Amino acid sequence: NEQRNKLPFYPGLERYTLVEKMGDGAFSNVYKARDTKTGGLVAVKIVRKYDINAHQNKHLHKDMKKKPRVTERANILKEVQIMRQLKHPGIVELHEFSESDEHYFLVLELAPGGELFHRIVKLTYFSEELTRHVIVQVAQAIRYLHEEKGVIHRDIKPENILFEPIPIIPSPPGYRPSDEEEKEDEGIFQPGVGGGGIGRVKIADFGLSKVVWDSQTMTPCGTVGYTAPEIVKDERYSKSVDMWAMGCVLYTLLCGFPPFYDESIQALTEKVARGQYTFLSPWWDEISVEVKDLITHLLCVDPVKRYTIDQFLAHPWVRAGEQSMYAND
Ligand code: ADP
Ligand code: MG
Repeated sequence: NEQRNKLPFYPGLERYTLVEKMGDGAFSNVYKARDTKTGGLVAVKIVRKYDINAHQNKHLHKDMKKKPRVTERANILKEVQIMRQLKHPGIVELHEFSESDEHYFLVLELAPGGELFHRIVKLTYFSEELTRHVIVQVAQAIRYLHEEKGVIHRDIKPENILFEPIPIIPSPPGYRPSDEEEKEDEGIFQPGVGGGGIGRVKIADFGLSKVVWDSQTMTPCGTVGYTAPEIVKDERYSKSVDMWAMGCVLYTLLCGFPPFYDESIQALTEKVARGQYTFLSPWWDEISVEVKDLITHLLCVDPVKRYTIDQFLAHPWVRAGEQSMYAND
């Protein structure tokens, strides 16, 4: 088909046959691809090393016009090095890293459902039950990162939360979907019932993440015993950035719009700095006081008072769902 013809060819990536584009950014493209060795599907994140349009930039020096670097090697190696240490059902696994002259290639475990972001757009908002199903899985992955690996993600948002789809009501043998259902290629969806078509949730994109512990000794980075108090304190606060982001995701899942928004960046920055958000009527009228309480403890301007991941997991609203599918990761 037409889509297939448009797929580019990447020297160095011969083992994988690109199937379709799953995401794109300024300097990275992510494709669903087939591994010709195993026959399985993977995701390949292709990151451009150089700016191919640089020759059009009159202001660049002639040497720079050929190949100005757009992706710092150290950054991509850090992303790879962090991902290699991680093994958790709630985190996209890195299978392989390689590079060619022009690109870096990250071969990743495929999350076939794509972004949580698109599912919010599709359903408008999630029920509390579906929201809990999603956010608890995110929290368990964050707990693993913060408490077991000393890793802070620093870019938690619906675009970086991916999922494996599951049909809610399995189609009976010989069942033929109606035209309406045909549009859904993953089964029959009922917003707010069961998993809402969302099975396993997986965190992706460690491009901004940071290690604050030595993963071998489980102590703060740097020489043990010589770490300054402000560094130790910094590390404590830096984990709290993920908790704030989780508060924003939780809020957005429940109502379909983010807690902080303004057309002007300056006004938006002000609102965030003051922690100025509301549970806007009528959208929040029917939502439980328990989950509002949890959000309040996450969208808390003072990082010392903000909930840690363990406090999050101990909250009554979270614990109300302990019987659910992936609660014991
Ligand atoms: P960037 O640093 O450019 O944001 P990401 O790692 O977030 O790169 O990938 C960009 C997008 O590609 C994601 O938002 C998602 O839509 C898609 N994507 C990334 N990894 C996977 C994966 N393992 N499975 C499915 N889609 C993915
Ligand atoms: Mg991303």
